[in-house]
Amino acid sequence: RLEVDHVTCRFDGREVVHNVSFAVRPGEVLCLLGPSGCGKSTTLRVIAGIERQVAGAIRADGHTLSDGHVHLPPEDRGVGLIFQDFALFPHLTVGQNVAFGLRGGRADSTRRVAELLERVDLGGYADKAPHMLSGGEQQRVALARALAPRPRIMLMDEPFSGLDNRLRDGIRDETLQLLKEEGTAVVLVTHEPEEAMRMADQIALMRDGRIVQKGAPYNIYNAPCDKAAAAFFSDVN
Ligand code: ATP
Ligand code: MG
Repeated sequence: RLEVDHVTCRFDGREVVHNVSFAVRPGEVLCLLGPSGCGKSTTLRVIAGIERQVAGAIRADGHTLSDGHVHLPPEDRGVGLIFQDFALFPHLTVGQNVAFGLRGGRADSTRRVAELLERVDLGGYADKAPHMLSGGEQQRVALARALAPRPRIMLMDEPFSGLDNRLRDGIRDETLQLLKEEGTAVVLVTHEPEEAMRMADQIALMRDGRIVQKGAPYNIYNAPCDKAAAAFFSDVN
């Protein structure tokens, strides 16, 4: 369970994220939804531990990741990240890319890598180089890599926006299904209301660094908190 508790993040004195709070249970998807520049990516970077000018607290399964006293480094947070560009290491094979996030014994990691590649429908691809794969296949490798260490929390920043529609729906549904099965708490950033309506258990609607409304997708859709929120959802059918 991820808890974000009254988090504020400043750049040069400007509050880019203001007093943001939410909680995500295991196997649940929370969508951070809002227009460009509203602070979605910054919120993910704060949770990941990449930003330092942060007030408030972040906890995972009751452990403090950061507060006024503690600041765990990103690699010690048990948090997986998938960003928009999904970049693979070009000089490593598919299997080595997936194994990159794993610690522990070699035999162990070989088994885990094979299992993950099967799960993203890329069994038998372990020894290929990334450039031999299509864009969608590379994204699935990046997904397997992010899943490999079994993060309790997965942060995803518009990870599906570079794909064509048909491919996107398949990979998106498959990915979130996998994460649900593993009991991962997911924060998915998007600026598309349709995507949030489809994928979220909870939506947190952001504007100017604040969460202006939070709730189940259909509650927000049916009862937007103000005119701007209503306008934002008006294209969804
Ligand atoms: P988009 O949908 O375009 O990705 P976003 O909601 O992810 O937008 P952020 O990237 O979180 O928005 O940016 C929020 C605000 O913070 C923007 O005004 C941005 O210019 C500012 N910002 C982000 N990172 C920094 C930084 N390192 N230094 C100064 N300002 C920053
Ligand atoms: Mg962003």
